[in-house]
Amino acid sequence: MTSSPKSAATLTLSDILSARRVLRGQADATPMVPSAKMSAHLGQEFLLKLETTQPIGAFKLRGALNAIANLPPDTAGVTCCSTGNHGRGVAHAARARGMRAVVCMSALVPQAKVDGIRALGAEVRICGTSQDEAEAESQRLAQAENLAVISPFDDPHVIAGQGTIGIEMMEARPDLDLILVPLSGGGLAAGVALAVKTVNPRTRVIGVSMDRGAAMHLSLAAGHPVAVTEVASLADSLGGGIGMDNAFSFALCRRHLDATILVTEAEIRDAMQALFFEDRMVAEGASVVGLAAALAGKLPPLRGPVGTILTGRNLDMDQFLGIMAGRDIPLGDLTLKGRAYAP
Ligand SMILES: *Cc1c(COP(=O)(O)O)cnc(C)c1O
Repeated sequence: MTSSPKSAATLTLSDILSARRVLRGQADATPMVPSAKMSAHLGQEFLLKLETTQPIGAFKLRGALNAIANLPPDTAGVTCCSTGNHGRGVAHAARARGMRAVVCMSALVPQAKVDGIRALGAEVRICGTSQDEAEAESQRLAQAENLAVISPFDDPHVIAGQGTIGIEMMEARPDLDLILVPLSGGGLAAGVALAVKTVNPRTRVIGVSMDRGAAMHLSLAAGHPVAVTEVASLADSLGGGIGMDNAFSFALCRRHLDATILVTEAEIRDAMQALFFEDRMVAEGASVVGLAAALAGKLPPLRGPVGTILTGRNLDMDQFLGIMAGRDIPLGDLTLKGRAYAP
């Protein structure tokens, strides 16, 4: 067990290097491959870091393993709130340690994700229709049943775990000019940006979110955490707020992110199609927001290769097949008009 950083300012590259030792052989060394289509489109090499190849189908295993490895040895069990993938990471990491895990999720979480978490042996509680309600339930359970809470993004060990992706990308390609990071609560962006900026301050790191309910983007603009209304999105893994008492991820994103970019649901759909039809890859809406920003011409002028993180592949298959077939997609109150893929 390493000591816990007490504030965002005391979290450093050495915490990320410690996390790397914890993850070795379990959740590290994912491939990074070029996208021919995107490289041709941008006139710069475009690289995809495939966190879709993680055992749980998403990067969140990194943070979960590191957080659980740093709990006191007598911890009886863990609880968390989740939009799906963090719960899966926590369930997997807890099971590996023979620990009880209780995952609290809102009714907005796709059934495929709920099933995936149950299959890993975790208890699931569906509470309300927002991340905030799921969060409150997990805090209550922690008290009532003596469980340790593992935040999906605002925990120094989670941030350090996700930051190992930044180290791997910079080791593989020190010449990266720009890294596009899918952005929700900002644990991933905070860790990756901290790692990247410490290794090479000239590499730019930009967070990308969907344009409705982009909590970190709005909070950075306001200079303090702001609450958002959660709505259904193809990028369901990016839903939820950053917490009004955010202690780590907000400060780190504010310090290290060069910018944020927002993409529309139609742009996310187009990127999911392009990735599937051109690169023959399947990824969640949340994973392709970097691609979506690039395809939509929303990137700043480029000076070298661009990388993005395909963060996960735990999608709803019916929705995915509908998108690929060009069908209309219901998204809560609205319908995203279908469009067949056109290169
Ligand atoms: C959690 C998640 C993100 C965003 O990570 P944050 O640390 O909350 O910003 C992006 N993509 C996927 C697939 C995720 O599960």
